[in-house]
Amino acid sequence: MQKILNYINGELIAPQSDKWLDNYNPATGKVYSLIPDSDSADVEAAYTAAKAAFPEWSTLSKDKRSAYLLKIAALIEQHLDRLALAESMDNGKPLKLAKTVDIPRAASNFHFYGTAILHYASHAHSMEDTAINYTLRQPVGVAGCISPWNLPLYLFSWKVAPALAAGCTVVAKPSEVTPMTAYLLSEICIEAGLPKGVFNIVHGLGGKVGSAIVSHKDIPLISFTGGTATGKHIAGIAAPMFKKLSLELGGKNPNIIFADCDYEKMLATTLQSSFANQGQICLCGSRIFIERPLYEKFKTDFVSRVKALKVGAPQEEGTKVGAVVSQPHQEKILSYIELAKQEGGTVLTGGNKVILEGDYAGGYYIDPTVIEGLDFNCRTNQEEIFGPVVTLTPFDTEEEVLKMANSTTYGLASIVWTEHLTRAHRMANQIHAGIVWINCWLLRDLRTPFGGVKASGVGREGGFEALDFFTEPKNVCVKLK
Ligand code: NAD
Repeated sequence: MQKILNYINGELIAPQSDKWLDNYNPATGKVYSLIPDSDSADVEAAYTAAKAAFPEWSTLSKDKRSAYLLKIAALIEQHLDRLALAESMDNGKPLKLAKTVDIPRAASNFHFYGTAILHYASHAHSMEDTAINYTLRQPVGVAGCISPWNLPLYLFSWKVAPALAAGCTVVAKPSEVTPMTAYLLSEICIEAGLPKGVFNIVHGLGGKVGSAIVSHKDIPLISFTGGTATGKHIAGIAAPMFKKLSLELGGKNPNIIFADCDYEKMLATTLQSSFANQGQICLCGSRIFIERPLYEKFKTDFVSRVKALKVGAPQEEGTKVGAVVSQPHQEKILSYIELAKQEGGTVLTGGNKVILEGDYAGGYYIDPTVIEGLDFNCRTNQEEIFGPVVTLTPFDTEEEVLKMANSTTYGLASIVWTEHLTRAHRMANQIHAGIVWINCWLLRDLRTPFGGVKASGVGREGGFEALDFFTEPKNVCVKLK
């Protein structure tokens, strides 16, 4: 059986303990590879390599760092088919999604930061003829990067690329649930000739490898994407150590539909924003609010479109909804559907496990599920489910829908559908979220700030904000006379 290896000091190596974890294919429910069950000894080896590589990497010219990143981007594009297949097998997502979104976006992340670093500039503040201040932006040191399973290579590269571009060296941990494409990325980095120790990947469990990175006394910066409970735990350890922290956490995003929207565009996009990647995108709009005059029409049309979505094997042509990522996650989602029923919800479509035939009989499939009749502040409408489950709620006024939209502890993304110009801006102004999409969803310009408010996180990724995060500003004041 294939063994995934750690990438430490430029080499692919087994964990020091020689212990391994099973890696499941969610489409079949079968183990198909083994991943290192690494521990603090492997993290220490990775840190030592990263520390040794830091002086040279951090002082390498931006042009040269850029060239490495652009080479990695080109190699990801070159290996697109292989990477997409690996992502689909590891995560359960439709192959087409991996081919058109995950892997191209991972290449874009490296490409974007490979070029962004060339345009990154710091400030100067003149005190007329008394003095001039200029700000140096220096790479922080060895960066700890920890990422989740839902968009494995996409989100892993979203951290690692700006860290490397900024001149940090990296100790990174991908999710143990979906480690394969990070492993393939380590092969690509070797092919790209990335100097040894600059980028290190340690595979394994959050409680062992992740914890060892977060609590490492000489790793001064943690960039984390994952669940809110994990983020809270990490902050509890890292904050008293005065580490720089970027936390991209959970969401419970509202999708607000006014009756004056462009109906067909809204319907097609809402299908995507509800069920893309089996609803396992932190930006999915899981709470759909519909202005009352449109409610019945929307419900009928939406449910009929949802029923037509093909749940199937991820690599099969035409599959729109693949497997959810793991058996525990499948059980969690199904338990929320039960909860919704107990809370008085009516399941309009879906609500069940799907058992496919043949090799796929043991896979983790769930019918896309639409529920109505729930109070906006019941648990189903307040807690993150992170699966193919959405709720429908009617509303009458802007004030009412804003109150419901803003009622959760989360504040990551939001979607508003209206052709009314000033209403669109009014809503954007008042929604508690780091991201507002008006008449679109998942349209991303990599220069824009990415992240959430409240329990959805602290700090922003994206654009120069990420380069700010991975560098420390130092003001130099020069007296002129
Ligand atoms: P998770 O919090 O369980 O795990 C995320 C990562 O943290 C994994 O690599 C895991 O091994 C590691 N980890 C777990 N315990 C740790 C610990 N004690 N110390 C250090 N690291 C630890 O999240 P998940 O289930 O992999 O991902 C799903 C969650 O991620 C959802 O809540 C989703 O909303 C969120 N997410 C947020 C964004 C965003 O940009 N805001 C993007 C994608 C996913």
